[in-house]
Amino acid sequence: MAGEAQDDCLFCKIVAGTIPATIVRETETTVAFRDINPQAPTHVLVIPKAHHKDAAALAAAAPELAADVLRETQAVADGEKLDSYRIVFNTGTGAGQTVWHAHAHVLGGRGLDWPPG
Ligand code: 5GP
Ligand code: ZN
Repeated sequence: MAGEAQDDCLFCKIVAGTIPATIVRETETTVAFRDINPQAPTHVLVIPKAHHKDAAALAAAAPELAADVLRETQAVADGEKLDSYRIVFNTGTGAGQTVWHAHAHVLGGRGLDWPPG
């Protein structure tokens, strides 16, 4: 059911603390932690604690929670002292989504090309 922790979900396990992560911020509804395979000097993932499979599902089922995630990306960027940064929600296999628990990538600390690859 949307929002319920999934036994086979990596990010639900990070929320539960059963898989370790370098957590940079936590709120009642969200967790922000460093990506294990960083693509920029700052590469932090912001996730809702509740399980939703991607950003679209999150926005549809829980728009307030989607807003919490977006607010937290800003808080991460402030905490990392980034003037410029990129927020990415890979959505679907063709866009590179590999973990099926909604997450925002916050990338910064270097120049970021456009269009992305
Ligand atoms: P996606 O490809 O789904 O947009 O992003 C998933 C991200 O999760 C990838 O950037 C990947 O490096 C990161 N990731 C995968 N497994 C782990 C893990 O166990 N811990 C952390 N911190 N990040 C992970
Ligand atoms: Zn999950």
